[in-house]
Formats: sequence, C-alpha cells, structure tokens
Amino acid sequence: MSDIVIVGAGVIGVSTAYALLQRGVTDITILERNTVASGGTAKSSAIVRCHYGVTSVAALALASLDFLENAKEILGADIGFEQVGYVVGVGPENVEPFTASVKHQQALGVPTEFIDRDAVQELWPVANLDDFAAYCWEPRGGYGDGYATAQAFAAYLRDHGVTVRQGAEVAEILTEGTKATGVKLADGETVPAGTVILAGGPWVPALTTPLGIDVPIDPILIEQVLINPGMDLGAPPVFSDMVSMQYVHMRKGELLFGNSDASRLIKSVSNLDDYPGHASHEALELVAEKAVHRFPGIENPEVATTYTGVFDRTPDENYIISGTDYDGLFLETGMSGHGFKTSPAIGRLAAELILDGDTTIPNVTASDFRLSRFAEGDLLTSPFPYKGASGIR
Ligand SMILES: Cc1cc2nc3c(=O)[nH]c(=O)nc-3n(C[C@H](O)[C@H](O)[C@H](O)COP(=O)(O)OP(=O)(O)OC[C@H]3O[C@@H](n4cnc5c(N)ncnc54)[C@H](O)[C@@H]3O)c2cc1C
Repeated sequence: MSDIVIVGAGVIGVSTAYALLQRGVTDITILERNTVASGGTAKSSAIVRCHYGVTSVAALALASLDFLENAKEILGADIGFEQVGYVVGVGPENVEPFTASVKHQQALGVPTEFIDRDAVQELWPVANLDDFAAYCWEPRGGYGDGYATAQAFAAYLRDHGVTVRQGAEVAEILTEGTKATGVKLADGETVPAGTVILAGGPWVPALTTPLGIDVPIDPILIEQVLINPGMDLGAPPVFSDMVSMQYVHMRKGELLFGNSDASRLIKSVSNLDDYPGHASHEALELVAEKAVHRFPGIENPEVATTYTGVFDRTPDENYIISGTDYDGLFLETGMSGHGFKTSPAIGRLAAELILDGDTTIPNVTASDFRLSRFAEGDLLTSPFPYKGASGIR
C-alpha cells in the first residue's frame, strides 16, 4: 500500500511528487503507462512567461520562476531553461485589454514592462513591426525543455526513494463506496493507495467516466512547424505575436512557430494513441503566410520539420486541480496547453490542497481550479480577453 499513487509521469505528475516529498511524504508511487514525459510534456514548446489575465494563473507562473531558474541546483540536472526573455506585441484592437492586463500583472509583482518599437526591433531585427501598436517585455521569460525537465524531476525522485514505474498502465480506479482505495493495472495487478492523483493529461476522462465523474476535456491537435532561417538569428526572445496570432522562438538554430489563433486549426483528436504525427498542408500554408509577413528579413526560410501534440483543453482553457466526490481521488489535468511554465507551482498547489486543504501560494485562489466550476457555469476566464486569441493569456 502506497500513501500516494500518481497516475502519469508527465511534468505535472513528477512535479507533484517532488512537492509532496518536500512536505515529508515519502511513500509515493508514480505509475506511467509508457515512459517518463512521453505525453504532451515532450511535445511542449515550454514557453515560460507570466503574461496572464487570470490572477491565479499569473501567480502560479510567477511562483514557478525561482524554481525554473534554479532547477539545476535544486534537482542536480540541467532542465534546459533558456532565459532569453519574452515579448508580446498587440495590434490597435487589443491595446486596451493588453494595457490593463500588464498593469494587473505588475500589481501582482510580475516582472513585466511596456517597451517601445525600437527596443523590440533591436531584439528582433528581422521582424516587420508595422502592424503592432504596443509591446511588453518579461526579462525572466524564455523557453524550457519539457522532456529534460520531467526527466530531471524523475531522476531526483528515484534518488529520494520515490518509485517511478514505467510501462505500468492504470486501467481502473478502485473504490469502496465513495472512497478511492487504489488502482488496477492493465495486467490485472492491484496497487492499493491512500490517495490517488490523476495526472494523466488528456487520458484522465477514460479513468473518471466509469466512476460517473465528468471531466470536460476536449483533446485538441496542435500542429507545430520548425523553420530553418538559413541565417544566424542569435538568441532572440520568445515573441508572442498577437496580430498574426502566432508565437515564435529560436530552438537550436531553428524557428518554432505555434498557432495562437482561437478560430483556425482547431481540430479534436478522436484517438489519443493514433493521430497524425506531422502538420497538415493547411497548417504549413498558414505558418508560411504569417512567417513571410512577419519576418521579411529572413530571405531563404525552409521548413525543417513539423510535429504534432495534443492539448487537454477544458471549456475555459484553464487547469483542473481539484478533489472529487470520491475521498482520496484528486485530479490534475486539463492543462489546456499551458501547464509547463506553471508546473513547479502546480505541484506545490496540489500537495498543499491534498495535505492542508488550502494553499499558501501568494495570489492563488485554490478554488479557482475546482472541477465543479464547469457544472456551476462559473468559468475561469481573463477579465482582459484579447480579440481573436485563444484564452490562454
Ligand atoms: C505542442 C504543445 C505545445 C505546448 N507549449 C507550451 C508552452 O509553450 N508553455 C507551457 O507552459 N505549456 C505548453 N504546453 C503544455 C504543457 O506541455 C502541458 O500542459 C504539460 O506538459 C502537461 O503535462 P501533464 O503531466 O499534465 O501531461 P502529459 O505530459 O500528457 O503526461 C501525462 C502522462 O500520463 C500518462 N498516462 C495517461 N494515462 C495513463 C494511465 N491510464 N496509466 C498510466 N499512465 C497514464 C501518459 O502516458 C503521460 O506520460 C504545450 C503542449 C503541447 C502539446
């Protein structure tokens, strides 16, 4: 019998085990159907920023920065965090919510400032900035490496006595009345536990539906395109382009383009274990169109490769970090494509909720992430929404 069983060894499962360990819980077993970081974590763009309108989410991102910056010393391994900074540019139609959101972030203590066009041009000399109206800059932002981060956590956990079992697929949550008592693996083995934490990303509803727990997750296909610029662009900051609705950053000499458009390329995935591995022609064409417009200074760009991943998207594009009607059954899912940057603080939040029933993380209202908000119609959305953009900012 383990005190705690965590289902899923993505960055959320391992960061939660780490946080529980820091709180003195030592009897922890992580069960992973495949290998550590084999889900969305390894596909992550892993952009790090605090630019959120939702107070609790900005606060979780802020509370994660120290850990990400010092992870090498804390975990004893490099997590691949490149602190190149983060720039947001918006068009005239979004200046109002943008200004209000940045001021709100500053009030929370987020290191972010308004900067002018000349400053952005210096950071991104190849960019055409003609259609932007305002910018902000987060010097502590950048991008990480989801795979390296989860592996670093897992190595630390193993060294400190946590059991990390790979190839251990959980088929069923075991219950007695309204109490979770453990899990049953696909091979029939039973693993009893005091508390079961479901950190299985988009696979979670398959485990909760048989218990009558509705976890509203729409798995969305994300198509990523890497472009070889054919020239040395140095190490510019991550650029969140809220005019073309894309985000762009350098990764090992290539430019990674991601879609931020709420209305285009939104496709549900019907089979989580079998979906297209590369971007569609439609996605490639869209990236090419936007890239040519935004980066005229890149003369001979070439597509280097493409890949896909899945967002475990909830109706409000925010996290589910929540107890359930079953005693001892806790959910950490629905990260909706922005769970990397906040993973250290999400682990801490989950540990505090499980052990104390509340959180000490500044400016985080734990109930914001409760599962019941969907049934209540009390969605967690930004008071400063951007026109045309998805809700994850
Ligand atoms: C393309 C893409 C780009 C992204 N970009 C960013 C970004 O720029 N910034 C950011 O902050 N976030 C980003 N994200 C989101 C972030 O990567 C995820 O929110 C985060 O990695 C999710 O981690 P997780 O542990 O919840 O899920 P996962 O990494 O999916 O891990 C879940 C694990 O659970 C295991 N599992 C599932 N079911 C079972 C079962 N029944 N039994 C045993 N194991 C099971 C799976 O095998 C998997 O390893 C991006 C995600 C994607 C896909």
